[in-house]
Amino acid sequence: MKTPHRWMMKAVGEPLTREPLELNDPPPGHVLVEVAGCGVCHTDLGFLYDGVRTNQPLPLCLGHEISGRVMKAGPGAEAWAGKAVLVPAVMPCGECDACRRGKGTICPNQKMPGNDIHGGFATHVEVPARGLCAVDEARLAKAGLALADVSVVADAVTTPYQAVVQAGVGPGQLVVVNGVGGVGTYAVQIAAAKGATVVAVDVDQAKLDAVAAHGAAKTFNVRQVDAKNLKREIGAFAKASGLPSREWVIFECSGTAAGQAAAFGLLVHGATLAVVGFTMDKVELRLSNLMAFHARALGNWGCTPELYPAALDLVLDGKVALLPFVERRPLDEINGVLAAVHDRKLTRRAILVPA
Ligand SMILES: [Zn+2]
Ligand SMILES: [Zn+2]
Repeated sequence: MKTPHRWMMKAVGEPLTREPLELNDPPPGHVLVEVAGCGVCHTDLGFLYDGVRTNQPLPLCLGHEISGRVMKAGPGAEAWAGKAVLVPAVMPCGECDACRRGKGTICPNQKMPGNDIHGGFATHVEVPARGLCAVDEARLAKAGLALADVSVVADAVTTPYQAVVQAGVGPGQLVVVNGVGGVGTYAVQIAAAKGATVVAVDVDQAKLDAVAAHGAAKTFNVRQVDAKNLKREIGAFAKASGLPSREWVIFECSGTAAGQAAAFGLLVHGATLAVVGFTMDKVELRLSNLMAFHARALGNWGCTPELYPAALDLVLDGKVALLPFVERRPLDEINGVLAAVHDRKLTRRAILVPA
């Protein structure tokens, strides 16, 4: 067995430190998961480098995109023993008023690994059993995927999935995805799987080329098209493709102030703007454009566990490709990996795999 350990964040900007882990029996309703893989998210970098506060005070083990196998199950959670699972990035309590009304993402008692509780940059993690998503290993193997690969479903795929469902994306619609990094690539593929025609916008030509092969019908490099012309160019594409010039659905996935301003600038009559990316930066907007265009702006904090099986199905059915957009790295190289992601040296989403 791997020597149980986890990597702890002790202070902003400092390298994580490895500490040994004692494998206790989980309390009632909880399970101990042997981590297969844990994706590295922009949010982890926000905690580590930008001083975004974790809900649980430091030291804390980060990481909220976890797949693995249930190694020990506490009382009441025995049915999960031995199962391959995805751990949702947001785990609602299931019992409060918000949860009972199906609004688990705003549950005040929710647990987010790597934020409210210790996360998945570890060999093992203890999490609530409620909300776990079972992974069918026969289908996983048939899809040519390892359990570690689907870790990124637990945020990078499900968060845009929730956004796409919430925005009501369907056949015949024009969807614009602004920013096709670790999350936007999946927004493109999910919207295309729902039958929409997807326009992808980014500053990185390699990323645009990747999504052109996976769901994007048209791409725009905003290094070559300025913000003013972008809306006109997308309008011309819509016209040429017989798509509506109104009611576009715009997903802001860049998580940058410039990207947010650009996405807001794409509002047309009846548009929906879904804010998926996160930044601490502020942006100046004429908010009244929402009123003038009878448009709406939406946000979503993660994804309710109820939607995880459907999002995972898209992956297992081959409608959402993961492998071109991820790379596995040894967990114990975590400090180098985080620095490389921070310095934008990795083009794919890193998945940390305990050796
Ligand atoms: Zn995340
Ligand atoms: Zn709740």
